[in-house]
Amino acid sequence: MTDVDFTTSLGQQVRTVSGRTPSTATSMEYWAALSNTVMSMLADNWESSENTYNARRMQHYFSAEFLMGRALLNNLNNLGLEQQAKAALDSFGQNLTDVLEAENDAALGNGGLGRLAACFLDSCATLNLPVRGYGILYRYGLFKQFFENGYQGEKPDAWMEEGYPFVIRREEEQKLVHYNDLTVRAIPYDMPITGYGTNNVNTLRLWKSEPMEDFDYNAFNSQRFTDAIVERERVNDICRVLYPNDTTFEGKVLRVRQQYFFCSASLQAIVENELAERGGINNFGKFNSIQLNDTHPVLAIPELMRILLDEHDMEWDDAWAIVSQTFAYTNHTVLAEALETWEIAIFERLFPRILEIIREIDRRFRLELSEAGFHPGKIDYMAPIDGNRVRMAWIACYAAYSINGVAALHTEIIKKDTLHDWYDVWPHKFNNKTNGVTPRRWLNQCNPRLAALLTRALGSDAWVRDLDELKKIGSLADIPEVLDELNEIKYQNKVDFARWIKERQGIDIDPEAIFDVQIKRLHEYKRQLMNALYILDLYFRIKDNPELTVPPRVFIFGAKAAPGYVRAKAIIKLINEIGNLVNNDPDVSKIIKVVFVENYNVSPAEHIIPAADVSEQISTAGKEASGTSNMKFMMNGALTLGTMDGANVEIVDAVGNDNAYIFGALEEELPQLRASYDPRAVAENTPGLKRTLDAFVDGTLNDDASGAFHDLLGSLLDSNGWEPADVYYVLGDFASYRETRDAIAADYYADRRQWAAKCWRNIVESGRFSSDRTINDYAQEVWKIEPVAI
Ligand SMILES: *Cc1c(COP(=O)(O)O)cnc(C)c1O
Repeated sequence: MTDVDFTTSLGQQVRTVSGRTPSTATSMEYWAALSNTVMSMLADNWESSENTYNARRMQHYFSAEFLMGRALLNNLNNLGLEQQAKAALDSFGQNLTDVLEAENDAALGNGGLGRLAACFLDSCATLNLPVRGYGILYRYGLFKQFFENGYQGEKPDAWMEEGYPFVIRREEEQKLVHYNDLTVRAIPYDMPITGYGTNNVNTLRLWKSEPMEDFDYNAFNSQRFTDAIVERERVNDICRVLYPNDTTFEGKVLRVRQQYFFCSASLQAIVENELAERGGINNFGKFNSIQLNDTHPVLAIPELMRILLDEHDMEWDDAWAIVSQTFAYTNHTVLAEALETWEIAIFERLFPRILEIIREIDRRFRLELSEAGFHPGKIDYMAPIDGNRVRMAWIACYAAYSINGVAALHTEIIKKDTLHDWYDVWPHKFNNKTNGVTPRRWLNQCNPRLAALLTRALGSDAWVRDLDELKKIGSLADIPEVLDELNEIKYQNKVDFARWIKERQGIDIDPEAIFDVQIKRLHEYKRQLMNALYILDLYFRIKDNPELTVPPRVFIFGAKAAPGYVRAKAIIKLINEIGNLVNNDPDVSKIIKVVFVENYNVSPAEHIIPAADVSEQISTAGKEASGTSNMKFMMNGALTLGTMDGANVEIVDAVGNDNAYIFGALEEELPQLRASYDPRAVAENTPGLKRTLDAFVDGTLNDDASGAFHDLLGSLLDSNGWEPADVYYVLGDFASYRETRDAIAADYYADRRQWAAKCWRNIVESGRFSSDRTINDYAQEVWKIEPVAI
């Protein structure tokens, strides 16, 4: 399209969505109009990609979460339309940045697992791979977080209530999903996933539940108004929120209902395509493979069995042969939540036939292992059914042809601990696929200044599609002018962030200070508490001696706590109280500041990461499966301050010990260290700890007499019967954390060019953390699919 045509088309779209002239339309209306323009431009390629993929072997990616973030800039960039859009908006007196900021995040995910799924879709499209994503169209994304007196509050995030141009409702492709007590319609909403520098457009299919009839007309007509909508609300509940509260039995039923809902609808669509393309079901496993992103979609396994047995009259063995050719399973965590189990009563209520199939899987599993001579105790431990519970992960491990962890260390841990028995029986199923992130969103789009420097230095933008290209400019770490420019870029990004946070939360910060950042879900194992302890200790050190030369720093947090996770919420309150203490103290706030970014999400991450100097990756060794924010920071020239955990291990391997700051106990050391661990003694004897911990309860910090800080202190010092004191070794690692964190800050100011050289080496070595590398590995080693350019 010419510039003039583009502008004309945008003007028409603005009139269509706003019903007024372009001169009075809002930023939001311009966002919708520009988004419509983009959709119209990709439509033809989208359709031909779909048709091409449907005809060949395809990979399907099932995930309860897709943390997509914003779509417009991503699509403009991929289609090479950013400059044209900017010019067109200019001619209407609009500014592209403001229009982009009007977009709501599609926050259909919780954290790393959901963002990984989103990065994977981006890489699959960019690499021309026939892969489709399947999930749920949640009406409300993960809750919106707000702070009230330092406490987290939650409200619903109605992200698409005002309309969302990037999903298309495909009424004609709806499916029915049957439960014992309910039948619902599943309507697909398809989202185009554009790739960078390719015509291919992939699809994310999100299912929405709707009642068979919109409401009960007869009930309404006979004045029973609420009866008329009861069923409708029951059906709408299925897609209302991500991870509904499952502390009650009804809550658990809803979760399982959700899981089955999108598995069943997706499988029906895949089977239908198989019949249309190949005229029969027997080659299903040859043409279709399904990656299960954690255990939430594991019900797809018995559901595919049901379809093959009941709807296609297959024999069990033939059906099972197809199923075991179809599924691959990704394990995402070594924490207990990896091993989802559900009460049999839930299955009895929702789908007795699925339960019957799971019982038969269980029976055959036990038979198979006992014939192979395995010990009855081991068989009991591994069987899909345990008394009155169904173990989702075990069903996945049994049926899947591939089981993977998400970083080298994590895969070793699942082989030796979490899934050790499975590894014993089926070692060939196990493989590692270290996570990655897309360099399009996480470098090219979010950090245009650095992107421009890299393109200029390399002589092309080839790195956007092949991040390993950056290795070629590794030696520029020796060129002072390049390092000065890198520092200047970081400074400008920090100025931008300072302006953004001032506007958003009214806080003033100094862009000359070190920006030291920890952004991730709030969880005890991620040890935001250890970070907070350091800041409080530093506060006391400065109060002791205001003349002390402490490197100026801004400590930045972003984190949501699960609404029912009381201790995580107490940590948020604690950090906010420390922020109050620090930021309101005239001596201390000259040197350090604390910023807690409210409602952390993908788009805030895009503002924060390009401005970061220090990346806090401080989980207890062995607990963080991979981490992906560590990779985003590395790509943007922040240095890792971290433990030997998850992908940090591979980051250090890539950049060398001199270009990362590593501290703390190793995973293999921890069992021994814990055996003789006395947190009270550590608290007494570690420099800085004692008074810092005392401050939790001596009136320095105010928890409104809720006892929240007392409980936090207790969790560090005392065992409570079911867990030992300081499970995550916060106090044990504190001394080494403090020393290393002091050192990283001193190094920053000691030699700015040397610091920049370290940042440069991180940037140019980040190629192995591109999700393109991860996806190529999946495609070749697990999925067995080939690229196909349309
Ligand atoms: C990348 C990302 C995560 C994952 O962060 P980790 O530090 O790896 O846990 C979580 N949330 C959002 C919004 C992200 O962009």
